[in-house]
Amino acid sequence: MKKISNGSIRYFKKWPHPFQFIEYYLILVFEKAPTMTTTQAKVCLACGKAVRGRIDKKFCDDYCRNHYNNQLKAVETNFVRNIMNALRKNRLILQQILGDKMITKTNLERLTGKGFQFKYHTNIYDNKKGKLYYYCFEYGYLPIDKNHFLIVKRKVDSW
Ligand SMILES: [Zn+2]
Repeated sequence: MKKISNGSIRYFKKWPHPFQFIEYYLILVFEKAPTMTTTQAKVCLACGKAVRGRIDKKFCDDYCRNHYNNQLKAVETNFVRNIMNALRKNRLILQQILGDKMITKTNLERLTGKGFQFKYHTNIYDNKKGKLYYYCFEYGYLPIDKNHFLIVKRKVDSW
């Protein structure tokens, strides 16, 4: 819908088409109608009770704010801890499979059977021949095909 700037038909260069006229009339009517104000019930992010005061207030008090922030921190800490544990476990699985060898071959079933999680790795090494090695710390794997992987280890001092 086109908006008219001053709300008067006097400024039209030509007399509007009847339908246009109705349209403009409706714009005028509704623009002048009082807008409904919805008062949102604001609740404390920590305890869920109604919050009174400034519009941007999020908590009842300092206690609730601290509680909320601590919870948030705990969630973050857990998140990081879980990924670190998964990475450590991945490393351990690769270490066990490799044993004393420099390089070995394994399959998907063996890795997943031990709980290897492919979505977690610490870094990727591109051997410049189009092959990507996925490392969990110093242990890595190279996908050969859908089901087979080479397991390798880098010298820690070669990083
Ligand atoms: Zn609260």
